[in-house]
Amino acid sequence: MHTPTTKAMFTEMSGLVIQTNPNDTVAIVVNPTGLKRGAVVMREIVLIEDIPMGHKVALKRFEVGDAVTRYGQTIGFASRVIAKGAWVNEHNITLPQPPDLKDIIYTPTDFTRSAIPAAQDLARYTFQGYKNLDGSVGTKNILGITTSVQCVAGITNYIENKIRRELLPLYPNVDDVVVFNHSYGCGVAIDAPNAIVPIRTIKYIAQNPNFGNEIMVIGLGCEKLRPERLLPTHEIAIDASLPVLNQPSILYLQDARFNGFGEMVQGIMQMAETHLQNLNRRKRETCAVSELVVGMQCGGSDAFSGLTGNPVAGFAADLIVQAGGTVFFSEVTEVRDAIHLLVPRAINADVAQKLKAEMAWYDNYLQQGQADRSANTTPGNKGGGLSNIVEKALGSVAKSGTSPIVDVVSPGDKIRKKGLNFVATPASDFVCGTLQLAAGMNLHVFITGRGTPYGLNMVPVIKVSSNSTLADRWHDLIDFDAGPVAFGKKTIAQMGWELFHLMLKIASGEKKVATDVLGLYNDLVLFNPGPLT
Ligand code: CA
Repeated sequence: MHTPTTKAMFTEMSGLVIQTNPNDTVAIVVNPTGLKRGAVVMREIVLIEDIPMGHKVALKRFEVGDAVTRYGQTIGFASRVIAKGAWVNEHNITLPQPPDLKDIIYTPTDFTRSAIPAAQDLARYTFQGYKNLDGSVGTKNILGITTSVQCVAGITNYIENKIRRELLPLYPNVDDVVVFNHSYGCGVAIDAPNAIVPIRTIKYIAQNPNFGNEIMVIGLGCEKLRPERLLPTHEIAIDASLPVLNQPSILYLQDARFNGFGEMVQGIMQMAETHLQNLNRRKRETCAVSELVVGMQCGGSDAFSGLTGNPVAGFAADLIVQAGGTVFFSEVTEVRDAIHLLVPRAINADVAQKLKAEMAWYDNYLQQGQADRSANTTPGNKGGGLSNIVEKALGSVAKSGTSPIVDVVSPGDKIRKKGLNFVATPASDFVCGTLQLAAGMNLHVFITGRGTPYGLNMVPVIKVSSNSTLADRWHDLIDFDAGPVAFGKKTIAQMGWELFHLMLKIASGEKKVATDVLGLYNDLVLFNPGPLT
């Protein structure tokens, strides 16, 4: 079995449509202005109606119930007769059932990949990063301030501005100060089984490599989530080989030593200064690609995402994994319908089982909310030519490349293994990004077709556009245009290498991503599947 990805997929490209797989019964319109009725594609198919860019043209006549095939997989069934040359979209196809998890039996895949060089040939690629005491490597040098409850947010926002204004100029090696405010910490069922998800998310974000192991928590004092639970201490104690980290600090606003707001501010500023002194001593050093931890995500996808942006990102992912680095992909609802293609890529039966278990957990989570994975596709996805979640998922998994999946990480948990990981998260952009930060990413690749100004302040976010129309229009928001692949101007491998080189530059601080230049940052959003009280 193979994934419909990375290798050149343009088995048939004639005029301005792309057929992903020779067995496909639809092709995608590439022309930026769409195609008009009467246009001839693939030498003999005449369009019987206008079809916009990114949308599907019927390559045959479909009777009711006939399978519609893209990426060599069934993406739906004709709900009415569809003539050859007609527009195939969400109005004339129905959604297939998701693959039944019980029916997917693990059989290992052969991982020979000709386009990816041998590991020793990739050893010469390096980047300049900040080495941390816990063994991780940062791509930025940031003072991270963690909070244990929302009640402190007013003061921490005030402090963030004050530190940026008054202290940062004194510590020129520190890039920024970032406060992680969130809506958790009190008014929640803190001992409910699912409470572990938001709690460990906050805890592991404090340990993100870009915070340099300098942990500082601001609490109120009476909250349910005790700030002590957010410290890494007990984990370090179980592994004696790890060095002792700098002392984390906790400050409670209700501490009796503070007489009013002014003294609280003074207390926090003093604490911040201790950590800033440590951070300011850090310098970038040459690091192997194996120290990169890259989180891959999509948002505002279109029909090109699976043809250009995602396979190009997937090729770069393969290069990083082959060089010994870590890449993860996420978004359960966007892989659920391609799970039959992913399970065989698990490195062993245990990982295959964990992958299926995360899908089952999410099926159940959605069911409790009386929703299913069909709720995923947005009006924008459909406008961009993605008829349903099956088509979206088949294109989405392309960003995982072709490496074996070495581990599966539950929501909010931290990665344990180098290589390609699946980090289970919702697909919602900010929830996914938040959980990926907790998993330990130090570089983010975000692929978009419709366009989103998505940006995070904790890690550089490389925004990849799936089509050149978007990259041209959003010239100052997109970092990398994978669009040329659609026109056959460049191959997936060529653009994958280009993206790989860009990633090393960004990780080294040699070049800034658009959102860092513009200072555009979204708030993080915790995933809380547990009950409120
Ligand atoms: Ca997303």
